[in-house]
Amino acid sequence: MRNSPLGLSIRNVSKQYANGVQALHQVSLDIPPGMFGLLGPNGAGKSTLMRTLATLQEPDEGQLFLGELDIVHQKEAVRETLGYLPQEFGVYPKASAEELLDYFAVLKGLTNRAVRRETTEALLQQTNLWDKRKQKLGGFSGGMKQRFGVAVALLGNPRLLIVDEPTAGLDPTERVRFLNLLSELGESSVVILSTHIVEDVSELCTHMAIINQGHILLEAQPVEAVAALTGRIWRKLTDKPSLPALEREHQVISAKLLSGRTLVHVYSPDHPGNGFEPVEPDLKDVYFSAMTGCFTPATQQAAKEVAV
Ligand code: ADP
Repeated sequence: MRNSPLGLSIRNVSKQYANGVQALHQVSLDIPPGMFGLLGPNGAGKSTLMRTLATLQEPDEGQLFLGELDIVHQKEAVRETLGYLPQEFGVYPKASAEELLDYFAVLKGLTNRAVRRETTEALLQQTNLWDKRKQKLGGFSGGMKQRFGVAVALLGNPRLLIVDEPTAGLDPTERVRFLNLLSELGESSVVILSTHIVEDVSELCTHMAIINQGHILLEAQPVEAVAALTGRIWRKLTDKPSLPALEREHQVISAKLLSGRTLVHVYSPDHPGNGFEPVEPDLKDVYFSAMTGCFTPATQQAAKEVAV
């Protein structure tokens, strides 16, 4: 991977904060061009990894390469080819979208006025903000601000685009529009989407990893990971009081309310009996199986061997 001109290679990266929290434990990932989803709950270590990739902080140990570029030791060169949309994208509320994008373009080194105008116009079109370009950013909705953030992050045609929890707080329409925008970007560059929302990954990403408490639990292609669970996920509609007994007897991966009852999914390589019925697994089952320790790289390998 280190020799791939476009991919990202992360090797044994660890990070402990001054307060003693070990945010990353020996994280290794190979990220090819395209959309990559980093999925995990709050506090899993996603932002720590994203900030490290964005050259904003250094790991205690380990290496990160973007193609041939060493992210820790060649920060300036990486920054030239990096777009980063942080969780909280602050804007100057009194500036218009057009003015602020022009300003960031100057900072990015686009000093030629004609080139700059052409670039910013194309980005405002691409992010669907052209009609709103004269409006002040203070009046923008959450989704519009996020799309503006993407326009800023895309200045200079980055090879690596990092978006950290972009859909949190967006309403459903804004979310779909935002995800569509991202999906157009993943063709020639590496786009890393960090999120705790499984649907963001299932709808967009060709590759993914699941992270929890600083450990990578699973690295997979979503389609393959879902296929690996075929025949292993079972469901039962039950009542909340029955849940503890089910949890004692089975590997319950999720339990959610459904019209006042509780829908339980369990992981089991064989039919668990007990009134369970088989389910077509989806990426949520992959996520919950990994989070509960049922779906490990060994499960993945076993499924591959069966498929062959
Ligand atoms: P995520 O983005 O998945 O929510 P983070 O990378 O923000 O996870 O956090 C991982 C862990 O590191 C959490 O326990 C968090 O409280 C802790 N953490 C994050 N940033 C800092 C910091 N600057 N100082 C101390 N602890 C931090």
